[in-house]
Amino acid sequence: MKLLVVGSVAFDAIETPFGKTDKILGGAATYITLASSVLKVPSGIVSVVGGDFPEADLKMLADRGVNIEGIEVVKDGKTFFWSGKYHNDLNSRDTLVTEVNVLENFDPKIPESMQDADILLLGNLHPGVQLSVLEKMNSRPKLVILDTMNFWMDSAWDILMQMIAKTDVITINDEEARQLSGEYSLVKAAKKIHELGPKYVIIKKGEHGALLFHDGKIFAIPALPLEDVFDPTGAGDTFAGGFASYLAKKEEFDFETMKSALIVGSAMASFTVEKFGTEKLQEITEADMIARIKSFKDLTTFEVEV
Ligand code: AMP
Repeated sequence: MKLLVVGSVAFDAIETPFGKTDKILGGAATYITLASSVLKVPSGIVSVVGGDFPEADLKMLADRGVNIEGIEVVKDGKTFFWSGKYHNDLNSRDTLVTEVNVLENFDPKIPESMQDADILLLGNLHPGVQLSVLEKMNSRPKLVILDTMNFWMDSAWDILMQMIAKTDVITINDEEARQLSGEYSLVKAAKKIHELGPKYVIIKKGEHGALLFHDGKIFAIPALPLEDVFDPTGAGDTFAGGFASYLAKKEEFDFETMKSALIVGSAMASFTVEKFGTEKLQEITEADMIARIKSFKDLTTFEVEV
């Protein structure tokens, strides 16, 4: 199965307690499709960059099997730029700079070669843009996965509700789930979010793992405890990329497959945080992933006699 990803392709400048970077490759769609390429799942990006975006980065994505036909290059424009600084616990960060640049007037165009995508992953962007992509597909993909954040709840509530109503799987972090639902309990929050549309609700809890809700059932996983977390940027996007790519590989969207996909997403994200930006994701192989999934299994499997 084929995965179509809509999201930012960006420059990031990141500061963590362990160091800082100048402008490096970032963006939600970049993390997501790099995750797909590790699992050898065909993917394509719909996005926009400026004339300042390095040819070498586009080539790197293409060389890894990512279809880049849908990345528009605005020659006289500047690429989206985001800069963030993490606090000492690495669980929270301040956004220092967001220069929207070419994303401001982004009018997504879906290349003919990606019209037959089975899964559409709408990365964190304005919900109006996300909705327009869904409307531009010749036919509805088999699965629509949505990532969003509190910023859009504050600034574009009505259109976000329209987008969520058309979503099969929503991925959101715990604080955002509380804001979206008005409920503190994540179980109650998930119930309310189901009522908005999505049959599957994934709530990410950072270093505390993730929860999957569907049809009255709950599945919980921890995050892999790591010795060194270097830079959490892109962990959520990598998680979504690993999750969606596993479903594409298995060609199944039922609860049992989604449970495994949750583990693959978490394992993939655990690599991203080990180095700055996309560096680690560009290094790892499918074999590294398999080894990490085994560690996950050892960490979480137990038997209890009752
Ligand atoms: P995450 O750490 O999962 O929240 O994702 C970080 C990535 O999201 C970075 O690579 C940024 O370039 C990108 N990003 C940050 N803010 C935005 C935004 N407002 N719209 C689109 N992408 C963004």
